[in-house]
Amino acid sequence: MTRRRTRRKKPLPALAALALALIALAAGGYKGALPGPFGDAPPSGGPLTSPGSSGEGAFHGDGAMAVHFIDVGQGDSILAESDGHFLLIDAGENDQGDTVISYLEEAGVEALDYVIGTHPHSDHIGGLDDVIRAFDVETVILPPVEHTTKTFEDVLDAIEEKDLSITLPVPGDSYELGDAAFTILAPQKDYGDDLNNWSVGLRLACGDGAFVACGDAEAQAEEDMAASGLALSADVLKIGHHGSSTSTSDAFLKAVSPAFAVISCGEGNSYGHPHKETLEKLEAAGIQVLRTDLLGDITAQWGEDGVTWAYSGNNAAELP
Ligand SMILES: [Zn+2]
Repeated sequence: MTRRRTRRKKPLPALAALALALIALAAGGYKGALPGPFGDAPPSGGPLTSPGSSGEGAFHGDGAMAVHFIDVGQGDSILAESDGHFLLIDAGENDQGDTVISYLEEAGVEALDYVIGTHPHSDHIGGLDDVIRAFDVETVILPPVEHTTKTFEDVLDAIEEKDLSITLPVPGDSYELGDAAFTILAPQKDYGDDLNNWSVGLRLACGDGAFVACGDAEAQAEEDMAASGLALSADVLKIGHHGSSTSTSDAFLKAVSPAFAVISCGEGNSYGHPHKETLEKLEAAGIQVLRTDLLGDITAQWGEDGVTWAYSGNNAAELP
């Protein structure tokens, strides 16, 4: 496998980040509600709420962030937002570009601070070229591994067309996202031809709230993250590799210790995702599971009252 040479942009140094945070605080801090595709933010009364709910949500005051799991069928596409700043992780298959663009427009995205392609498989980066062309993008993060597909070349072409450079993920590097910040967790090392294990992993934190997502990282990459000494604990974990039994290793799940797990997969997919072993493991650990194949688009919102949920589908009966 060949490596391409890339320019690496330096992330915001901690001192500069602190200065910016102080300036933001002096300027009056967070104002207004975050836009969402479900209209009003859901109430903060229960752990899980329906999209039809209305009322004052948890999107007021400092420390708010939201993570949207966009239903792209079998694949991943995750939009994170805080104080009008946006991070997109993956964009589903090639035919999902328009789905993701529409969702982002409805969510009020005008520009993306960050776009991350976790790894070069088409169910993650397929729609990324369309998204990169449709929005102003500041920083693109891709792992230092190539794939000999047209899908991968299309993404590189879009990056070049927009005159963007590629930022390499370095474990421990942190990036500001509005009132939140994310830290790169993976890839921890060279995984050769194993593209899943090259997945970019990150932990997004805002106040006491945290979210972890690591693409299709499998047990080996998860164990390397668990052994890295980086903070992994989170309220919400995006389950690796669509719920495959080759991910969600015991050491990693213990290190993250989430209250909620989100699985992004397509209804009736040919891989049998999510695998029974993964669902049983999550159930045994008392972790509530939310699935895009059952609930459609899923949104987690962090606020003063912890995490509240909304979803686009009508499968309330499928909620834990
Ligand atoms: Zn995948």
